[in-house]
Amino acid sequence: MKQAPDWSVVQERMRPGRLTRDGMLGNDARPPAEIIDADAAALARAGVTCREIAERLHRITELARKALGNPVEIAPALEAWMEEGMGRMSCPFGDPGRWPKAVTYLRHRPTGRLLQWSDLGIHMIEEHGFFEGKGSAFRIQPEEIMGQIDVKHADES
Ligand SMILES: [Zn+2]
Repeated sequence: MKQAPDWSVVQERMRPGRLTRDGMLGNDARPPAEIIDADAAALARAGVTCREIAERLHRITELARKALGNPVEIAPALEAWMEEGMGRMSCPFGDPGRWPKAVTYLRHRPTGRLLQWSDLGIHMIEEHGFFEGKGSAFRIQPEEIMGQIDVKHADES
């Protein structure tokens, strides 16, 4: 287990204009620890771990990264692509290390539903169980990502 973070510092870093322009909490009034607990409970009910979701997002991200901005088919109804930005991002939980400003998009073709995440976002899911606040453009609703990608039985491609 990691050392418990200083939650007031973490929450402050997640505000708009600190580490990211729009912040990481959206319009979610809950403190980050509460968001993490609620998502952890939903994942436990579904029998999926943060690590399993993060590994799947990692694989999609690497496929998109290799395609250099072009869309890549993840599954018959799913395509992904990446937009790389300048610079790097820091983790609001205070870990050392910087993550490239790259955003991976995943579109479900039949519905047009678009999910997006950053490299830092995967790290926050994997290491902190943090999926971002409700209303954040980068929030990944755990049950939604599980509905779109088969987290447990992902095809290796
Ligand atoms: Zn971190």
